[in-house]
Amino acid sequence: MGENLPATPRGWRDSARCAQVADPELWFPPRGRHDVAAVARRICAGCPVRPECLDYAVALRPLPLDGIWAGLSHKQVRMVAAQRGRPRPCYTCGTEFVPANVQNRAYCSGGCREAAHREQKAAYERRRRERVRART
Ligand code: SF4
Ligand SMILES: [Zn+2]
Repeated sequence: MGENLPATPRGWRDSARCAQVADPELWFPPRGRHDVAAVARRICAGCPVRPECLDYAVALRPLPLDGIWAGLSHKQVRMVAAQRGRPRPCYTCGTEFVPANVQNRAYCSGGCREAAHREQKAAYERRRRERVRART
């Protein structure tokens, strides 16, 4: 375990069902293995420390990019983090902000969203011109 992990009440992991299972990789199923994920989710459903586990996952920085946490996918964990209104860094400028809603959770302001879209468009244009140039 690293040193930058969130502080949570000690000991909850001792009761974690996933710590008692022979194959912890069940919680990190390969892409598309929904059957494996379903096994992990079922075990989470009967786990006594599910709330502690979810608090832990939501407090991780960066937020989880894979795995099953408290029976949720990493995407669902990110959703819960957004719903709980925890500050997060804006994708464009890095300023910490609390998302106003679940749909808009990447940028701190309309200006930053537009800047990101402008940049994406410019990058697309660059690639398009390179493709055209490569053909001529
Ligand atoms: S809820 Fe969390 S601690 Fe419990 S089994 Fe699932 S992943 Fe492990
Ligand atoms: Zn910003």
